[in-house]
Order: sequence, then structure tokens, then C-alpha cells
Amino acid sequence: MTVRTLLRAGHVISMDPDIGDLPRADVLIEDGKIAAVRPEISADAEVLDMTGRIVIPGFVDTHRHTWEASIRGVAPDATLDDYFVDILDTFAPLYTPEDVYAANLAGALECLNAGITTLVDWSHINNTPEHPDAAIQALAETGIRAQYAYGSANTSLADYWFESKIAIPGDDVRRIRDTHFASDDSLFTMALATRGPGFCVNDVVTAEWGLARELGIPITVHVGMGRLAGRFGMAKQLHDLGLLGPDTTYIHCCYFSEEEWRMVADSGGTVSIAPQVETQMGHGWPPVMKAIEHGLRPSLSVDVVTTVPGDMFTQIRAAFGAERARVNAECWQADVPVPETMLTARRMLEIATLNGAHVAGLEDRTGSLTPGKRADVVAIDATALNVAPVHDAAAAVTLSADVSNVDTVIVDGVIRKRDGRLTADVDRARRLVEESRDRLLAAKAAR
Ligand SMILES: [Zn+2]
Repeated sequence: MTVRTLLRAGHVISMDPDIGDLPRADVLIEDGKIAAVRPEISADAEVLDMTGRIVIPGFVDTHRHTWEASIRGVAPDATLDDYFVDILDTFAPLYTPEDVYAANLAGALECLNAGITTLVDWSHINNTPEHPDAAIQALAETGIRAQYAYGSANTSLADYWFESKIAIPGDDVRRIRDTHFASDDSLFTMALATRGPGFCVNDVVTAEWGLARELGIPITVHVGMGRLAGRFGMAKQLHDLGLLGPDTTYIHCCYFSEEEWRMVADSGGTVSIAPQVETQMGHGWPPVMKAIEHGLRPSLSVDVVTTVPGDMFTQIRAAFGAERARVNAECWQADVPVPETMLTARRMLEIATLNGAHVAGLEDRTGSLTPGKRADVVAIDATALNVAPVHDAAAAVTLSADVSNVDTVIVDGVIRKRDGRLTADVDRARRLVEESRDRLLAAKAAR
């Protein structure tokens, strides 16, 4: 029997150029798939009244260390250098599989609550083989669309981040892929979360890239951030090792040289920018326009909730404000008008949705409200005092709305948030993640 859901009479921003914006239209979902987007659809379906709602594709977060939800806000004033010591060398070694489960459960529900329907979980917390199983189990229980990026253990900085000689264990990556990702399930895909040149010796870099390519899974790597890695010229080193390719996502890219931008663009690689983290923690400038100028389609990511908020509204505003500040200042200095290419509020919505799907390798199934794609749909309450009255619906989402306005969240056709409330057991998730916090703090004190 076909299951149908009809989103009735919302202001639809499809992000599909052929459909565009429809100020009063319906979205028909059939068996998890978007079947139609147009005004006045009649169908035998469960009807959700979208009057006063702005209906958009779900946000895509292309890089988050979801395991850090247990230690949310623990490093509010940290620089990137501090973070390596205070988080990766202090808390990460103490994580049990139970902590990873709790953090991924609460962290993925936090995403759904905020309208993030697709999450790239950059999971470099695989201290034992039980850790990845716990991470994946939690993601699966929430019903979020996820790309699970299998990363290294993090039991000490010396072993894993300073010219590391320890490669991600290929046997366990294969086991995880065979156990959890044997079919190309529409909700879950897998990637390899690598550390890259400068953090690892070249043999390890080559081995990890080779492993991902042998398994046919994409690669994600932090590059060009701050004093720590900006000096490594990581993309150049990867180029010299012959490892650049269209299957790789480059995170941050703040201190890329012009040559590195060209190398990454020419190779067909993709880019994830974490603007709040980058401006706040010293990674460097969020290079949204740089990426666009090189023909890339940058996406946005949260990165770490130890230090920044976990929602996409924050990321959108951080990138929009920072890049416009830079361009305005440069143009004033040069006494010229701002260019036509100046970032717009609408462009930010494209970056946070469609570009995210592109970067996660999932544009065939999410990122826009296009018939045939899976139904990842978010409704924003535009009747709230911080959103109404609406003049420009895209700008209302990117510049006025916040998490409290996320009214409905649907992933793969399943309603995960309805009338402003998650359908999941939020109290259990909060209890588990608070217990995890207490356990980690006790273990830290006992060290
Ligand atoms: Zn990161």
C-alpha cells in the first residue's frame, strides 16, 4: 500500500530551478519520495496544513564531530591549538562506546530538531571496534540521513596527530562497511575520515587514500586551517602524492594558496566551510567566495559543539556576515562599489541545502524539493514574531528564523518533528548525554 503525505498550502522554496518558488503550493510525498510539487494537489493522503509555513529542503551539515555532544560548550574560549589539547588529548581518550552512543543519539536529534536532515558524521573516536558500532546504532535510531565518516582512534595526540604512523585499520573499516553499509540504502552512506599530510607520515596518507578508493567510498579531510595546518600546504602535498580526486571533501581550506585552490577545483573535489568555528577559533577566514570564484560549490558545517552552536542558521549568518564584511571593507578601501557577486541571503539557502547535498555526494536523493528525490523536507513557522511579516521568504529563513521556528521535519518521508516537537524520546537522549558528561568528567578527574 502506498503511504502518502500531503503538505498543504505552504510557501514552497524548492531550490529546484525548474520549479522555483511557489508562494502557495503543495508537496506530495509517496513512499518516502517527493511525487509532486505544485498548487492544489488532490490525493488520498495524510494532510499537514502548511498555512503560514515556509517549506524548504532540509539543511545538510557536511562535517560534524557528533561524538562531542556530551562535551557541548566545554571549550567556549578555545583556539584550534587549545582544542587539540583540551578535547582531542583530554576527553577523546576517555570516551567509551556508551559515550559515543549517547552523544550521537542526542547530537543527531539536535540536528533533526534544527531542520538538518542530512549529517556527515566525522567520527574520529574509534578507540575500539565497539565505538563505530555505537555511533552508527545511534544515528540509525534517530532516522536522520547520514554519511558516516569512519575516522581514526583518538587515544593520544602523539600517536594520532603528530606525524602519525598509525593508519586507520582497514579490516575494521571493511567490517563496518559489510555490517552496516552492505546495500546502497537511501538513508546511510559511508566515507573515510582521514587526517592527511602533516598529521600523518606519507605512507599512512597513501594507505588511507588507497583504502577508501579500494572500497569505493568518499574521503573527507581537514586542510589549511590556522597556524596548525595552514603551513602544511596539505592540498599541494596531496597533489604531489597523486591523491587529489573528485571523491574528496576538503574542510576549512582557510589558508589555501591560489595554486591549491586551482588544484582542488581542477580535481573536482568539494569544500565544506565551518564559518563560526573558523572565525571564532583561529582557523582563518571562511573562504566561501574564494571557493565560488574557483567554480566550486561550497557547503556549510557545524564542526564542534564544544565551542559553537549546532544549528545551520548560525553557520549561514556567520558566513554571510564575515564574507560581506570582508568584501565591503575591501571595496571601501579601493573606493569601488561592491561586486555583483556579493553573497545574497538566497544564495546562503542554496549553500546550506543543495550545495550540501552535492558535497555529501547525495544530490541525486536530497538537497531540493524535486519530484523523484527522497522527501527531506522542513517547514519554518513564518507566523512567529521573529519571522513575520514575510517580504522575502528565502531571506526570512536565512536571516530571520532560528531553531525555535523549525515546525516540521521530514526525512525520507518520515515525520521526525511535528508541530514543533520531535517524535523521538528526547528525555531519554538528554538523560543519556548528561550521564555521559558526568562519566567523562569523573574519568578526567581520576586521571
Ligand atoms: Zn572538524
